[in-house]
This record gives sequence, C-alpha cells and structure tokens, in this order.
Amino acid sequence: MEFRVRYAPSPTGFQHIGGVRTALFNYFAAKSNGGSFILRVEDTDRERYSTAYLDDLYQTLTWLGLSWDEGPIKGGPCGPYIQSERLEIYQKYAKQLVDEGKAYYCYCSPERLEEVRKKQEESKSEYQGYDRHCRSLTEEERAEYERQGIKPVIRLKVPTEGKTTFHDIIMGDITRKNKDVSPDPVLLKSDGYPTYHLANVVDDHLMGITHIMRAQEWIPSGPLHILLYQAFGWEPPVYCHLPMVMGKDGKKLSKRHGSTSVKDFRDKGYLPETIINYVTLVGWALDGEREIFSKEDLEKCFKIENIHKAPGVFDYKKLDWFNGYYIRQKSDEELAQLIKPYLESAGFKADEEKLISLAHAAKERMKTLSDIVSLSSFLFEDVPVTDRSIYVAKGSDEEKTLSALKRGSEIFISSLEKGEAEEKIEEALLELSKELEIKVNGVFQPLRVAITNSQVSLPLFDSVRLLGMDETKRRIKRAISFLEEK
Ligand code: GLU
Ligand code: ZN
Repeated sequence: MEFRVRYAPSPTGFQHIGGVRTALFNYFAAKSNGGSFILRVEDTDRERYSTAYLDDLYQTLTWLGLSWDEGPIKGGPCGPYIQSERLEIYQKYAKQLVDEGKAYYCYCSPERLEEVRKKQEESKSEYQGYDRHCRSLTEEERAEYERQGIKPVIRLKVPTEGKTTFHDIIMGDITRKNKDVSPDPVLLKSDGYPTYHLANVVDDHLMGITHIMRAQEWIPSGPLHILLYQAFGWEPPVYCHLPMVMGKDGKKLSKRHGSTSVKDFRDKGYLPETIINYVTLVGWALDGEREIFSKEDLEKCFKIENIHKAPGVFDYKKLDWFNGYYIRQKSDEELAQLIKPYLESAGFKADEEKLISLAHAAKERMKTLSDIVSLSSFLFEDVPVTDRSIYVAKGSDEEKTLSALKRGSEIFISSLEKGEAEEKIEEALLELSKELEIKVNGVFQPLRVAITNSQVSLPLFDSVRLLGMDETKRRIKRAISFLEEK
C-alpha cells in the first residue's frame, strides 16, 4: 500500500513552531517511506482566516524546502486541496448520512441553544451540550420548519450507548464512552460550510491518507472521527498523535517563552537548516546521541517508531547553538549574501569584497544573521561611547584603564605597523596587563571600546583591518582625550 501523509493546517495564524514540527515529521515520514506528502489547507474557519496567513504557510514551507507532492498550486489527482473549494463534496457526504439515517437536520435557533445551555448550567445537570431536540422530529415538524424558511444544520447521530476505541501507534488504545462524545456535533453549518470534523474525515478518506500525524491536542476528536468513519463505512487511517512541544518550564510553548512563529525566527536570521535540524529533534531522536542532521539525512533516516511519547522541550539556547553551527558551515561567500539584507535594512552599505571580509570576521561570533548589524555597526557609523564605565573591565579602575589604553595602544599600533604577528602583539599586551596588575581584558577592553565603540564586536585585529589604520588611530586618540577629561 502506498504511504500517504498530509499536513493540514488552518490559515488562522502565522506558522507556529509546533505546526512546522508536524509538517517536518509528515514530510520526513513520507520521504523515508517512499510515500507522498500532501498539503491541504483547512480554511473553513472563515472568521479567523487571512490570506496573509495562507501566504505565510506557502512561504514557510518553501523556505524550508518542504515541497509537497500534491496540494495547492501544485495540484494532484485528489484536488482541489483547499477546503473552501470543496464545499459541494462535503454537502454531498453530509446529505448521504442524512439519507441513511445516520445524521439529521437541526433547526434550532442560536437563542434556543443558548437557553438549553443556561438551563443545564442552572440545574447543574450532568448532561452537557445539545439536547438532541431535532433528532426525532416528525416529517410534519420538519416540513413546518422548512416552510418557515429556516436553514438547518446537519448533525451526526452519535450512539448513546457503547464505547468507541481508536488505536494510536504512539499513545496506544484510547477509548471513550459514546455518551461522553460530544452530543450530535454539527457536520454541516447552515451556510453550507462543513465543520472541521466532517471536512477532515471526508478529505483524509478521499485523498487516500494512510497515516495521520498531528498534534496531540486532536486526540479528543479521535473517537468522534472513528464514529464518522463507521457511519460512512470507511476504513480509518493509522493514527499517530505527536508529543506536545513545551517550553523549558514544562508548559505548552507559547509567546511567554519567546518567539513561536517561524516568520519571527526567519526575520531574526535563523537558517532553514537550523529549524529543520533542531525542530525535528523536539520529540524525535535517532539513537539519542547523534544531533546533527541535514534535510537529506532526515529524508532517509526518519522513522515514525522513533517519535517520543513524552513531550519535547523547545530550548531557545539550543536553537542558538544549532544556528551558530550552521552559520559556521557557510563559506564566506555564502554568508556574505545572507548578511547583506540585514546590513541593507540597517542602512549600512558594503560592496561585495567588504561583505566577504565581514562575513569572515563575524562568522565565529554570530548566533543569528541579524547579529551582524550590532557586531559591525562601528564600521558604518561612528557613535563614540560617552560612559566611562564601559571602558573599565572587571577588576580594573578608571586610572588603570587610562594607562592601559595609552600604553597598550602604543604597543598595539607600533607592532601592527611593524607587521608583527597577532600572537606576539597579544603577548606584549599580556605583559602590560601583568605590570598594571590587571587581567588581560583590562587592556583589551578599553582598546576595543575605543576602536569599535562597543564591548562586543568583531575580533579586534579584524576590526582594525576593516576600519583602516588612520581611523583606528583617530578613534584611539579621541578615547584617550575623553578619558583624560576631568
Ligand atoms: N486543521 C487542523 C489544524 O489546524 C488539522 C488537524 C489534523 O491534522 O487533523 O491543526
Ligand atoms: Zn435542533
């Protein structure tokens, strides 16, 4: 049997890390099983829908290189793949269930439903939800509602007895008493739109989906979906609900933890390689040891059996580590192209040659591509530091800092002009720090702040090379006068 999986997001928000993890697992499962990865847009929630979210979905998957075998734009034998373009299909299947006595028309007004809810609340009734008022309407009653022009919804007849079980290959058997399944949920709304449950089940069947890999929050819908498959007389697919994505505090990952949309990560300068590698490790591991995986690796070695049952932790520090790693894997030329837009949007202009030198100098110090802006801003604008304490390293003081800068810069400049090796210059500065009875950073920090206007920037020797000797001297002189002021 062909292996067919789908990613079926609703465009009601920007692609979330959790959603993208679902997409990655489906994509890699498809590739490693020689199957098909199908993209289906579940856009039946028209109130929360936005084309900006749909664009973001396509952009995100394209940026990650997760091309779909069938889906919107691409097409395929089971299209259309956008649910709002399939309304007639859902209407036909809902009607079929009514004709077979497995579903029924409900004419209740929102006011009536609200009253029912209130009464249940007041009487603290154990029974919650729709009171199945229309489940046993006579033909005459129905005809009367129709005559009044009331547009009905279609509800599923959920059995009131017995229980329903579905098997999940990660979670095991999940059983629910039918009386605890939502009482007769709406399948088709009065405006002709399906609810999530109907559209999801009909499409998974018609699109030949063999394995459903989706977020754990959909487990409660499982029994209802099984009842729907039974009502249609269809074989349900294999279920595989994915472990939750949590923050380090054990709570579901949310904005409180930091960025959660892939768009934010992309804007900050995380690489697609990072997102693919790290996000796949949230709830999945090959052998518990290996951590570095390219997309091509995962296309071969991803196995559903290795998905964890326990929740996965999304660790922002770890993400940074992976991003630093993948940044260092880039050649200077590649990295130059990647940092270019960040410099441009900061208003910093650099030609190709300079971009490459910058990339080379910054590579070891970048966690994200956007870091290039703060690391290199001293080259594009000169904003001298006007707070003395910034010059003073830990364990030093203002007086020693001034001597360190005066004497250190003399050694630094004259050795550079003599073309001495970096290690030799560093040694000389270390000697000076010993003499002044401060740590070596007590010499380097004032030099760095004087030259780059910041405590954190590109490596010092690279900074001087990029800035030029004249400008370097000018800035050092300026810093000395500043520190000498009383
Ligand atoms: N449209 C649902 C979502 O946004 C799909 C759930 C499923 O995969 O069945 O998560
Ligand atoms: Zn009703």
